[in-house]
Amino acid sequence: MLVPKPANSWGFFAHQKINYYAVFLLPPEMLVYFKANIIFLTDHAVDPDKRRFSMAAEAPRHYIDIDHYGAYPFDALPRKWDEAIKKFGSDSLQAYGIVPWHIQFMMARLTRAFSEKDIPKILKTSAELGHYIADAHVPLHTNSNHNGQLTQQQGIHAFWESRIPELLADKTFNFFIGKAEYLPNPGQFIWNRVMESALAADSVLRFEKLLSHDYPDDKKFAFEEKNGKIMRQYSSAYTKAYNHLLHGMVERRMRQSIFAVASCWYTAWVNAGQPDLKAMMQHPLSDSDKIEFDQLNKSWMNAGKMIGREE
Ligand SMILES: [Zn+2]
Repeated sequence: MLVPKPANSWGFFAHQKINYYAVFLLPPEMLVYFKANIIFLTDHAVDPDKRRFSMAAEAPRHYIDIDHYGAYPFDALPRKWDEAIKKFGSDSLQAYGIVPWHIQFMMARLTRAFSEKDIPKILKTSAELGHYIADAHVPLHTNSNHNGQLTQQQGIHAFWESRIPELLADKTFNFFIGKAEYLPNPGQFIWNRVMESALAADSVLRFEKLLSHDYPDDKKFAFEEKNGKIMRQYSSAYTKAYNHLLHGMVERRMRQSIFAVASCWYTAWVNAGQPDLKAMMQHPLSDSDKIEFDQLNKSWMNAGKMIGREE
């Protein structure tokens, strides 16, 4: 039997919401094309996580343990890829994660795809770029205590990025955000988001620790419904209390993710010379693309463990 794997990094739910809502921040010339492909952009928001079950090089693209480089603002770490490689070497950078740089590689790839008017590449790269940008907004994707494993808080990763949005986003979060903006310095923009995440990681861990003192295990966890199944998970009451303590941090980071994704898509399109997307609307995906997606799905459904870091 094929059993879907657990969600990772913002959970599948939040990644899909983020790409979906990002479409509506785009200017009309882009909106017409992206909206026509919104199902694709939403479905494929989670491909990078699926790939983590079959490809060893994938995991480090989703995070950076920035505390490995000292204390905030981590001046020991050069922000430019070439300088960071020179100082630490590729193996070490990969070992602690490369999300801020991978986002920039993906933006360059998207800009090229727009200039080449390569339809499948535009769609695939936009969907996946959205994923990595959203990951960089998650505080625990920028910290070596990424699942509370060092402080007896195992499970906090999915608690913050999956359980809270799944319980509260549709009913209480506001995703009216405005418009995408052109980013004159995307590298700086991405690093700023990463640094916000790094600063917030401490509260994410500390508040859960505090709250857990008031909740014995039988109040902290409950058998509740998820995707049509009853399963043991953080209780609704505990989830709401944690979200309250965080003063809406999860909603803010989701909103910021949506803005960042749309702004990066928009910036890549502008930098490619604003190609006419209306003219591209008729081109469907090729058969080889469909086969590639099919294979990715199969290997993900059949996979055992995630390669590299588990969350
Ligand atoms: Zn991820």
